[in-house]
Amino acid sequence: MQTLTFAELGLSAKVQAAITAAGYNEPTPIQAQAIPVAVTGRDVLGIAQTGTGKTAGFVLPMLARLESGRARARMPRSLILAPTRELAAQVAQSFEKYGVNHRLTVALLIGGVSFDDQLRKLDRGADVLIATPGRLLDHFGRGKILLTGVEILVIDEADRMLDMGFIPDIERICKLLPPRRQTLFFSATMPPEITRLVNTFLNDPVRIEVAKPATTAKTITQLFRYCASTEDWEKREVLRGLIRSENVKNAIIFCNRKRDVAILLKSLQKHGFNAGALHGDMDQTSRMDTLAKFRDGTITFLAASDVAARGLDIPEVSHVFNFDVPWQSDDYVHRIGRTGRAGKEGRSLTLVTPDDFKSVKDIEKMLGEPVAWIGDAPTEEEIADGSKRKRGRGRRGAAAPSGRQDARGGRGRDRGRQAARPSGNGQHREQQPQPAAAADPQAEQPRAARPESSQPSQKQNGRSKPPAREAKPAREPWEPREPRQPQQRRDNGSTPVGLGDHVPAFLRKTTRPVQA
Ligand code: AMP
Repeated sequence: MQTLTFAELGLSAKVQAAITAAGYNEPTPIQAQAIPVAVTGRDVLGIAQTGTGKTAGFVLPMLARLESGRARARMPRSLILAPTRELAAQVAQSFEKYGVNHRLTVALLIGGVSFDDQLRKLDRGADVLIATPGRLLDHFGRGKILLTGVEILVIDEADRMLDMGFIPDIERICKLLPPRRQTLFFSATMPPEITRLVNTFLNDPVRIEVAKPATTAKTITQLFRYCASTEDWEKREVLRGLIRSENVKNAIIFCNRKRDVAILLKSLQKHGFNAGALHGDMDQTSRMDTLAKFRDGTITFLAASDVAARGLDIPEVSHVFNFDVPWQSDDYVHRIGRTGRAGKEGRSLTLVTPDDFKSVKDIEKMLGEPVAWIGDAPTEEEIADGSKRKRGRGRRGAAAPSGRQDARGGRGRDRGRQAARPSGNGQHREQQPQPAAAADPQAEQPRAARPESSQPSQKQNGRSKPPAREAKPAREPWEPREPRQPQQRRDNGSTPVGLGDHVPAFLRKTTRPVQA
């Protein structure tokens, strides 16, 4: 039978007091299953994604276990590896929150910030070292850290580490640690490379698998809004209309490309929206600063690239807007997962242009039913036109086929504006060359560069994608090189193969809204 209260999980009084102070009434499923095992010192393999409470699932038992004993100079007692700076910083915040009654020293080794304070902490003796793999190896290489005192190793978001090419670094680090240690290993999915890592470096782990709590995503109302124009300035106008029609407390607005994030930010600010941006060209300090402002409500709208979609714990977001339909339907899941959390109502609104029908189809396939449209859905004819147009002319900036405005004339949507402003206007503005992303010497990078051949091909379904719009944006420094292709099923094949495998069952259904 599942334990239902924190009191039954074997945690110390100090940890329990911090849980009460955090306002948690009962453990989440991953906590209920992982904590009693982890406090005994056994290895845990937790298959859980962000939003399940997995961070407390490893931080709480670590706190309890680290209560006895003391750290020695340069020899951290525990090590947490996270794929990105933001995630590492969030784990550090969790230690602050759950460790209020402890006097543990927590050091954070991530790129983009000054290390002096952190190295001083390490010199004095850190109980917890939180790091991204590359940074840790850099400092280890310079003789700043000894890893032979590590009693507990946590690997968080292992599948994301795989995406980012960090697995060789992880293997190297594991070999530097004492074999007699506890390992707590978390991953949302278990591709073969991750299974191999688990088999090599974990010792008879207890495997715990949880789905994202159904109540969370049932609270997301997913709506799609058709915009007959592919011009970004028109999309922005439709977006503003959507924002104004919603009761937005705070929102993340996702773009597929970071240059569009910058353009959108300027536009939002120009139109009086209280907005900030989060993308890869920002330095670490401004990113942290923006996130903090968004968290505390100083900023209401956060224009973001997908880097903000994964992993970041931004509670209580009332809305997610997709300015662009994401190229990958699993990004859609991650994006909308920023809202409707912890039982709160959330709404996601996705702008769809004639260029996006294929991506919408992918999302429908994944959800298992047609998406719900706010306003008029695109007609069959428009969908056919969109596909033809895309095949024939490429996507970004191409003028609409001449018949399209007429075809939409009776419906009046987006029409007057399209006629009122020459399409070349927006096209020109959107195609202005952008400065290349400054190389960030501090960026989290795997030490062993991955061979180009390991990147998925640009071709899909045997057809080359038109380069202008479909070429993936330059990878943000710490982002995955390319999302992994869905793993082929390894079992008897009776279950559907593909993205759906990674999508919690509750997300495969949309909430059907009343037409607005
Ligand atoms: P995580 O999956 O670790 O990113 O956690 C997601 C969110 O759930 C965080 O905002 C936590 O503060 C929150 N959380 C974690 N455990 C609990 C709990 N037992 N009850 C309520 N909220 C929780």
